[in-house]
Amino acid sequence: MSSASPSALPPGRLFIDGQWVDSVSGARFATINPATEEPLAQVAEGRAEDIDRAVGAARRAFTSGDWPRLSPADRGRMLWRIGDLIESHLPEIARIECLDSGKTITEATRVDLPMAADCFRYYAGWATKIEGETIPVRAPCLGYTLREPLGVVGQIIPWNFPLLLAAWKVAPALAAGNTVVLKPAEQTPLSALRLADLAREAGLPPGVLNVVPGFGPTAGAALVDHPGVDKIAFTGSTAVGQEIMRRAAGSLKRLTLELGGKSPNIVFADADLDAAMRGALNGIFFNKGEVCTAGSRLFLEAGLHDAFLDRLRQQAERLTQGDPLDPKTRLGPQVSEAHMRRILSFIETGKSEGATLVTGGERPDGRGWFVRPTIFGAVSPAMTIAREEIFGPVLSVIPFKDLDDVLPAANDTRYGLAAAIWTRDVKKAHQVARALQAGTVWINTYGQYDSAMPFGGFRMSGFGRELGRHGLMEYTQTKSVWVDLS
Ligand code: NAP
Ligand code: MG
Repeated sequence: MSSASPSALPPGRLFIDGQWVDSVSGARFATINPATEEPLAQVAEGRAEDIDRAVGAARRAFTSGDWPRLSPADRGRMLWRIGDLIESHLPEIARIECLDSGKTITEATRVDLPMAADCFRYYAGWATKIEGETIPVRAPCLGYTLREPLGVVGQIIPWNFPLLLAAWKVAPALAAGNTVVLKPAEQTPLSALRLADLAREAGLPPGVLNVVPGFGPTAGAALVDHPGVDKIAFTGSTAVGQEIMRRAAGSLKRLTLELGGKSPNIVFADADLDAAMRGALNGIFFNKGEVCTAGSRLFLEAGLHDAFLDRLRQQAERLTQGDPLDPKTRLGPQVSEAHMRRILSFIETGKSEGATLVTGGERPDGRGWFVRPTIFGAVSPAMTIAREEIFGPVLSVIPFKDLDDVLPAANDTRYGLAAAIWTRDVKKAHQVARALQAGTVWINTYGQYDSAMPFGGFRMSGFGRELGRHGLMEYTQTKSVWVDLS
């Protein structure tokens, strides 16, 4: 497997106040290439005192630096430039992303990086369009509203789409005029550090975007606890989301939480079955199943169940697994050894609870934290593998009789992030879309995203929306202004 030449990686330091710095403690940690199990880079480990420095820099940048004096148009131009720079460095950053996270070069090149660039350009356009309202009030007064930034925003992201999720958070926050302290996941800090460098090149003033790699219970928790942080935007597990919510109560920080999912993907017998097959495969095996919206519960109507499952098995067995840098590879390794073991243990639970292992179920020989594409059949909704987010290439196939049967089963989850329906019946499609308890519903497609389309959860998949106008508004607050005219 290929290994990185160190010069191709960003400096493994903290990016605070426009400078590369070491952590106060001097501590460093290794980020590991999951395809080779070898260390990729040493990265400075931010802790509470580093978070404090970063928040201080962000606060100064927000109140007295160049940032508040820039016109919205100039802010927009900088965001646009960041998008251009991501695009012009695409092969280099895509490679960093693959080495650090194990995602394939094909996915990084075609999906993560172009979408991250697009997200910056999309929000570049919004910088000049954040408008207040004039409100007809009863008193002889002029009433109007201002949409103002929140201040310093702490952003905590996971390892499954490291650069893309950084873009989803950083771009709208900056478009609205906030300043940011970003803590990337310990497994994948490198592309966020590269982004900080590109933002500086794009002209972003010091302190506006700070990137502090480190661990959740230290760096992450320090950001959540810091009294100088006005909002936390978090993507990750539901358990950590709950912990953040408890901790944020003390200072009443604004929160947006994008948490886990166990999304139903429902195929009716009247569907375009070739399209549904592609949707089922991509729904669970894209990014080796490390996707919060993974279609991890595949509901198959009785009439098509056996033939569909058999074809699905054949297709899954044909997916090439291996070196993420090889353009022919469809599935890379899981992000870390711990995560691989967690997935394998869910597979053991599936077997012991009586689900039928249709294919996969094990780790292939050789180096790298790979898990074979795995399909379980005859899964009943009460089984662990139908309820818990596995976050790996493990599909639970659940048979159903008819619409009345499948709707309650599909909604029988504590999550509500996404869902999909495959049918040629327009009326049924829209009826089911309304009945599903999920923040996103796809009809005859799976995994569509757009910078303009709001994204977020129902129920324990979190709250708040990212992307689109909704995502922007989450980084603003409304001020009502009264002017006496009597
Ligand atoms: P996680 O623990 O929720 O990590 C997400 C981010 O939160 C990371 O940056 C993490 O830091 C940080 N963090 C952890 N504990 C924290 C705390 N007490 N205070 C503040 N920040 C904290 O997720 P994970 O352990 O990487 O993955 C576990 C499971 O979460 C997965 O198997 C999957 O089910 C789910 N998950 C969901 C998503 C999603 O997109 N919704 C993404 C990833 C994972 P460090 O990583 O540096 O410790
Ligand atoms: Mg790594």
